[in-house]
Amino acid sequence: MAKVSDHIRQANGKTIFSIEVIPPIKGDNLKNLLDNIEPLMEFKPPFIDVTYHREEYIERPEPDGTIKKIITRKRPGTVGICSAILHKFGVDPVPHVLCGGFTKEETEDFLIDLHYLGIDNVLVLRGDPAKPFSTFKPKANGYSYASELVAQVTNMNRGIYLHEGENAMAPSNFCIGVAAYPEKHFEAIDHDTDFKYLKLKVENGADYIVTQMFFDNRKYFDFVKRCRQEGITVPIIPGLKPLSTRKQLQVLPRLFHLEMPPDFVKAVEVCENDTQARQVGIEWCVQQCRELTQAGAPGLHFYTMGKSDNIVKIAREIF
Ligand code: FAD
Repeated sequence: MAKVSDHIRQANGKTIFSIEVIPPIKGDNLKNLLDNIEPLMEFKPPFIDVTYHREEYIERPEPDGTIKKIITRKRPGTVGICSAILHKFGVDPVPHVLCGGFTKEETEDFLIDLHYLGIDNVLVLRGDPAKPFSTFKPKANGYSYASELVAQVTNMNRGIYLHEGENAMAPSNFCIGVAAYPEKHFEAIDHDTDFKYLKLKVENGADYIVTQMFFDNRKYFDFVKRCRQEGITVPIIPGLKPLSTRKQLQVLPRLFHLEMPPDFVKAVEVCENDTQARQVGIEWCVQQCRELTQAGAPGLHFYTMGKSDNIVKIAREIF
């Protein structure tokens, strides 16, 4: 199995196709997820990302009228899905690894499991606040920022484990991806600060960057230009999500802190139903992909969000 950075290098300047999948809701069938991946194998993705979903705090009404507070994970199974992808499709899985909800020791155990499974790729993230809270709080003896977790993975790659000193430990071999935001991370006070911390992630060992979704390619091109000016030289893979309902015109900007280009908004607003909006979303994304490919983007990384039919249509136009 290979690292994402090797796949990019071996593509020799050709844009590669990759996807991100989300584990099913707890209790749902894994088959639906695998069935959704299957049609995308036509485009030979060299790697598939699998998201990680931390615990949530929910309140459940009990028959006696009281409220029970429960801590639950709605979408467990990231490592199992990675293993299924590896064995069913022979594709390199990229599990997402979060700061949120983990101590450093738990993270180390998690990484050791991945290493033993032969999984040599991770996308390292801070994670969002645990629902329903609005601010991120690290677990006691956990990390506040992704850059710190990147440093831990880099240490493991050098054979340096927590509390064990530097003596004769078997090194791991992880290729490390990190996230970035062409339209700025919503908590960063300004772009300068955001670039400073992105650079820290790369200095701490990140091998490549995957961006948040965007609908205006200019945001990606400006972002890449600024990264290069800041001395960030690793590959920057654009993340893409084809719009699939009219409602997403409001939902995506709110959830992911991005702007929709006015032309795109106009085109979706005249749609009479979601079928039409989905078609507009496909056509817009195809245009984005053509321009990104021509500009030499190292890859096109699609956020599938549980559906693949629209991505199949887009990929057939590009790959
Ligand atoms: P960081 O890089 O830690 O940055 C978070 C904020 O802190 C930024 O505003 C940054 O500027 C600031 N900052 C960074 N370092 C410092 C410092 N040392 N001092 C002060 N400020 C600092 N979430 C999930 O829960 N599961 C997933 O699987 C998942 N996958 C994702 C995949 C991609 C490609 C992307 C783009 C996002 C994903 N997310 C996921 C969402 C992500 O967890 C959130 O966007 C989160 O709010 C930030 O994560 P980060 O790794 O970018 O954080």
